[in-house]
Amino acid sequence: MSTTTANDLYPEVNAFLESGILKGIVGGKEVESTGGETFITSDPGSGAKLAEVFSFQANDIDQAVDVADEAFKKTGWAQLPQNERSALLHRLADAVEQKKPIIAQLEALDAGKIEAQAQGDVQNFVDTIRYFADLAQHVQRRSVLAVKNHEAWTVRQPYGACGFIFPWNFPFLLIGWGIAPALAAGNTVVIKPAEDTPMSAIYLGRLAKEVGIPDGVINVVPGIGSVAGAALSGNPKLKRMSFTGSPEVGRLVAESCGRNLVPVKLELGGKGAAVVFNDVDIPDTAEKLVNAITFHTGQVCCDATRWLVHKNIYDEFVGECVDRLQDVQIGYQLDDTSQMGPVVNEKQHKRVLSYLEKGQAEGAECILEGGVAEVPGYKGYYVKPALMAGSLDNVAAREEIFGPVAYLAPFESEDEAIEMTNATDYGLANSVWSTDLSRAARVAEAMCAGNSWINAHNVFAHGIPYAGINKSGMGGGVLSVETLFDYWRGLSVVRPL
Ligand code: NAD
Repeated sequence: MSTTTANDLYPEVNAFLESGILKGIVGGKEVESTGGETFITSDPGSGAKLAEVFSFQANDIDQAVDVADEAFKKTGWAQLPQNERSALLHRLADAVEQKKPIIAQLEALDAGKIEAQAQGDVQNFVDTIRYFADLAQHVQRRSVLAVKNHEAWTVRQPYGACGFIFPWNFPFLLIGWGIAPALAAGNTVVIKPAEDTPMSAIYLGRLAKEVGIPDGVINVVPGIGSVAGAALSGNPKLKRMSFTGSPEVGRLVAESCGRNLVPVKLELGGKGAAVVFNDVDIPDTAEKLVNAITFHTGQVCCDATRWLVHKNIYDEFVGECVDRLQDVQIGYQLDDTSQMGPVVNEKQHKRVLSYLEKGQAEGAECILEGGVAEVPGYKGYYVKPALMAGSLDNVAAREEIFGPVAYLAPFESEDEAIEMTNATDYGLANSVWSTDLSRAARVAEAMCAGNSWINAHNVFAHGIPYAGINKSGMGGGVLSVETLFDYWRGLSVVRPL
């Protein structure tokens, strides 16, 4: 049994958990599923039930989209002067920042995320809302065009109701990355959080009402993916759809949107590489890659999960990594001493363990075995970090595991390293590690993906586009200036002089 008690939690977190069956937020009201269907969200670190949540069905989703559509047409959100809309978004950001400890604890409980990391995610949400609220005030929405004998101009206008489906690994942060540009541009949103992690989204919906975001501008529809997610992505009234999650579900979402001609943005999985040349500071590079693969228990889409290491330093590098991975403190996510919490659920637990087996069955060596981790007092979904090595044709080197498992392979030449990096259907993010910065830049630019980092992994900043290509995504990505323009349609007006 869990040793975490209600006394360990903030009173407001306890109040949230005890506030009855959690409802969705539609049109500024707390709403139940019409048939009363519910699902349970649990603490992956202890297995304990956290809350029962109303599970939205197809008709509930359709109603929420209708409400978002009406709010777009009737609340005046889209017509607000940009500075007023941005001011309201700043109020939301301020309120979220003020409630950071509460939201972070809810998120940590729900996602199994280390509490300090969850606090970082909440702050990133706040910064993202502020970034797009400010950016939208500085962007020209009207351009005058030079056409002979005509007056011509283009005006950028918001689309209307936009749908968002999010995964469980960064539930709150990804909501910010998704909805901030859409809202700043004047659209309304319907948010479907993952069924494993609905709590922070529901909290956000309540907060949006409190700070005065007009009713129906931010709607939150909890539910099961194959029901609520499928209904949302299949709704023809949406003007845009954004999905973050697995390629398998992304394909279904894209098919639905395609049938309705709803433009769709997909942010999908990855199988990134880290290319480590023989001139690096070996302990320092090992430390940084170990930190990256154990951060949020490896459940990070842009992680480097294939470590390609120059053959001259391979053995030393492996030794440094093994020592560090063995020292990682695995524990309950709200325990201050824990460095790595549980994976999100039983399915994910089995998935990680199964890749260790399947990889070995196909001939991979397990340098560090991984497997189930025991955390005294907690019956959660804990795993140990693992290091595998062998052919890159191995299933564990090809498929996204989404756990603290890195796959090692040696290389001899720069060209070989690039070829190995690009031998994947994914294309999200890679890194190159070298003190020769010309070489590092050359290799970084030869990597087929949306993002390459040099001597770092997982660095994000507002203004730097983050997007996947190939099986990792399509439709423009997030965080860049262009993302704001994704949520405006251009209307051209021409008249003869
Ligand atoms: P998932 O695809 O299983 O679920 C994502 C969301 O889709 C959830 O809200 C789920 O309820 C919903 N869903 C499930 N079935 C659906 C259906 N038939 N129709 C519509 N919606 C449906 O993914 P996950 O397991 O929650 O997340 C892990 C995946 O997300 C990994 O592949 C990871 O790489 C990816 N991811 C990508 C990024 C990125 O920015 N590229 C960020 C985070 C996670």
